[in-house]
Amino acid sequence: MDVDVIVVGAGPTGLMLACELALGGVRTRVLERRAEPQRNSRALTLHPRSLELLDQRGLLDRFLPLGRTAPGWHFAQLPTHLDFSALDSRLGCTLFLAQARTEALLAERARELGVEIRYGSELVDLSQDSDGVEAQVLGRRGVETHRARFAVGCDGGRSRTREAAGIGFPGTDETLTGVLGDFAAIDDDPAVLGAARARGVLVAPLEGGLTRLVYLDPERMRVPSREPVTLEEFRASLIRVCGSDCGVAEPRWLSRFGNATRLAERYRSGRILLAGDAAHVHFPAAGQGLNTGLQDAVNLGWKLAAAVNGWSPPGLLDSYHDERHPVGRAVTENTEVQTLLAELTLVPQYQRPGAALRELLDDLLSIEEVNRRLAAQVSALGTAYPPTSPDADPLVGRRMPDIGLSATASGATRVYELLPEGRFALLDFAGDPELGTGWSSRVSAVSVSKLDDHADLDGVIEVLVRPDGHIAWATRTADIAARRDERHEALSAWAGTPS
Ligand SMILES: Cc1cc2nc3c(=O)[nH]c(=O)nc-3n(C[C@H](O)[C@H](O)[C@H](O)COP(=O)(O)OP(=O)(O)OC[C@H]3O[C@@H](n4cnc5c(N)ncnc54)[C@H](O)[C@@H]3O)c2cc1C
Repeated sequence: MDVDVIVVGAGPTGLMLACELALGGVRTRVLERRAEPQRNSRALTLHPRSLELLDQRGLLDRFLPLGRTAPGWHFAQLPTHLDFSALDSRLGCTLFLAQARTEALLAERARELGVEIRYGSELVDLSQDSDGVEAQVLGRRGVETHRARFAVGCDGGRSRTREAAGIGFPGTDETLTGVLGDFAAIDDDPAVLGAARARGVLVAPLEGGLTRLVYLDPERMRVPSREPVTLEEFRASLIRVCGSDCGVAEPRWLSRFGNATRLAERYRSGRILLAGDAAHVHFPAAGQGLNTGLQDAVNLGWKLAAAVNGWSPPGLLDSYHDERHPVGRAVTENTEVQTLLAELTLVPQYQRPGAALRELLDDLLSIEEVNRRLAAQVSALGTAYPPTSPDADPLVGRRMPDIGLSATASGATRVYELLPEGRFALLDFAGDPELGTGWSSRVSAVSVSKLDDHADLDGVIEVLVRPDGHIAWATRTADIAARRDERHEALSAWAGTPS
C-alpha cells in the first residue's frame, strides 16, 4: 500500500479529517483536483461546536485572532437571532472567518502532522477489494494508480468518490437560487446598508476591506445556479430588493448558488466512506455546511484510525454512519425549512401569510427556551449520539462539557486540554488508585476534582470521553468493585482490547 488512507478533496472536511487521521498515526494522502488552494470563500462562519473541536485539538488560538466573533447567528434571516451565548459552552459564539482562511490553517496543521497534500490530482476512478482501494488519479504526469487501505470522499456535492462507490444521493434538485458578491467598493453610509439589511440582504465585512452582499431576488430566483452573475444584474437586483444598488463596485467574486438538497444513502460502502458536502448538500442557510463537514471529520477520524491500526471494536466504524447520517438529515431538513420561510415572502400569493408566519416565528424566538432549542441545533452543541445500551447513563452520547479540573499530572486545567492528541480521556472524580489501565496507549486516565459545578455531572463518579469529545460512558455507581467492572466493559467496548 502507498498509504493507509486516501482523502479525496482538500476542502475543510478533507483537511480536518487528514489532521485527525495523522493524529491517530495513520499515513494519509490528500488528493485535490485544484492546482492550488482556494482563494474565494463560500463559508464565513465557524459555529460553537466547531470552535470547541478546534479547542480540543489545541488549534483555537490559530483561528480566533483572525476573525471576529458574534454571540449568535440568524435562523431564516429572522430579526431575532439565535443566542449561542446562552448555551452551555465557553465558546458560545460564532467566529466569522473566511473559508479560504480556515482551509489554509487546516492545511498548515495537516502538513505539520506529516500529511501529504497533492494539488493538481483529480480522482477519476475508484474501486475496492477485500484488501484495500485503488484510485485512478489524473495529475501532471497523466493518470496514476494509488493504493490504500481506505478512501474517504471529501470531494464536495458532485463527489466522484460517491459515484464510484455506487452510493445513492437522493433528494431534490434546485428550485431557487441566491446570489452573492464580494466587493472592494461599496456605499459606506450606514443608513444605506441598514436599509438593505432590513430588506433581507445579508451584509458581511470580509478580510482585506471587502464586503459581501447576499440576496434573494424574486425576479431572478428561478435562474439556474450555473448561469453566471454580472455586475449589472447584481445592481439591478439590489435596486429591486432594497431600493438602492448600495454603491457596489469592483467585484472580486460574483456567484449564484442553489437549494438542491440531497443526503447520501450511506456514509460507508466497505472501504470507502463519505464526509462533508460529499454526503450532504443543502441551501447555505444559517451557515451550517462547513461546520457539519468538520464535525463529520472529527467523528470519523479516530474510528478510521482504529480500523487502520487494528484495534477497532466491532461496529465502531459503522457507528460513523449511524451517528452522523441523522445529523445530516436534521441539517438538510432545517435548511429546507429556512429556505421555505424565505421563499414564502417572495411568492406573491403567499406574501401576506408568509410575512405573518415569519413574524410569529420571530416572536417565538424571543422565548428563551425556544431560542435555546434551535440555537443548540444550529450551533451543533445539542448534537447527541444514541446510547449503545438502554441502561446507559443519560450523559452517554452527549458532548462532554469543558469543566475546570484540579491540577492534573499533564497540567490540564479543563477537560478539553486533555484531548489534543485525539485520545480517549478517562476522568475519575473519586480517586481510584487502580485507575491506570491496560489501555494507556489510547486512553489518558486522570483522577481529578471538578472545579466547576455542572448540574448534568452531579453524582457522576467516572466518565469516559471519546476522542471527539462525546461521552462514551459515565457512571454514578459508588461501589468500587462494580465500578471497575463497568469501566473495563466500557473501555473494551470503545477502545478495543488492552494494548
Ligand atoms: C454561498 C455559500 C455560502 C456558504 N456559507 C457557509 C457558511 O457561512 N458556513 C458554513 O458552515 N457553510 C457554508 N456554506 C457551505 C460550505 O461552503 C460547504 O459546506 C463546505 O465547503 C463543504 O466543505 P467540503 O470540504 O465538504 O467540500 P468542498 O468545500 O466542496 O471541498 C471539496 C474539495 O474537493 C475537491 N474535489 C472535487 N472533486 C475532486 C476530485 N474528483 N478529485 C480531487 N479533488 C476533488 C474540490 O476541488 C474541493 O477542493 C456555504 C455555501 C455556499 C454556496
